Amino acid sequence: MDRYLEGKTALVTGSVQGIGLAIAKELATLGARIAVHGLANAETLAEAEAVITDAGAPECRTFDADLRDIAAIEAMMGAIAEWRGPDILVNNAGIQQTVSFAEATVEIWDAIIAVNLSGAFHTMRQALPGMGGRGYGRVINIASVHGLVASVNKSPYVAAKFGLVGMSKVAALEYAAQGSRETGGVTVNCICPGWTETAIIEPQIVDRAGESGGDREAGIASLLSEKQPSLRTSDPAEIGMLAGWLCHPRAHNINGAAIPVDGAWTAQ
Ligand code: NAD
Repeated sequence: MDRYLEGKTALVTGSVQGIGLAIAKELATLGARIAVHGLANAETLAEAEAVITDAGAPECRTFDADLRDIAAIEAMMGAIAEWRGPDILVNNAGIQQTVSFAEATVEIWDAIIAVNLSGAFHTMRQALPGMGGRGYGRVINIASVHGLVASVNKSPYVAAKFGLVGMSKVAALEYAAQGSRETGGVTVNCICPGWTETAIIEPQIVDRAGESGGDREAGIASLLSEKQPSLRTSDPAEIGMLAGWLCHPRAHNINGAAIPVDGAWTAQ
């Protein structure tokens, strides 16, 4: 195993479960120190830390900043900067609620925009200058197919994810000339998953299962057949592998991209 991330520090937001945990495990396998983060209690954070340490992280620290709270984000970024870095920032934390324009409330809009979009802005504005100075940096924003195409009943989520894709391109441009091929440069990219089996899609699976007498597999098949031509969900570990590759120094010119992992959903 080429532990090409040894000496690097990675903050993965929302890394106590789901896609974030899978990415943190992959980066740990590649040798990175990991800042484990989630809106979670101490026990859940410790469990994630143990899994990530087992995967190979030389060191972990845990953070529980609520990404709706700018002061909490600033405190977390300050603590990580004192530790070292981050060299790698994965803005993965996200929330989703399906709601029509007619049903949407101010609270739903504000929460989804705060966690999925503003939180990433506040971590990026604090992390990017240090990355530029060191000549190596990776920002990987976990957007969604919904950063590339729309679906009904997801206006706050689609707005946040399209915003995340656009904001990432601006950062890619601002930092494109930093560093060198040797240091790896600074890149900012989005990964845009389609249906990936984690807790966030469970309410939608349950809804669809309800149409088939509660059959969960039928619920998943129904979601897939509507949008994802491969008819297969992604495993979070597959997103983790792509994130690991984007952190390789040789990925220095993959910059400003929004990479779908969606079984050809957005090819349609
Ligand atoms: P998940 O619900 O398992 O994980 C969400 C994570 O976000 C958790 O670790 C949680 O602690 C964190 N979080 C939520 N609210 C927070 C807050 N206020 N402050 C700090 N952290 C908070 O879901 P997941 O599927 O692993 O989602 C990860 C990312 O992938 C999200 O951005 C999501 O939009 C995106 N995504 C998921 C899918 C999918 O099908 N699962 C598809 C496309 C995009």
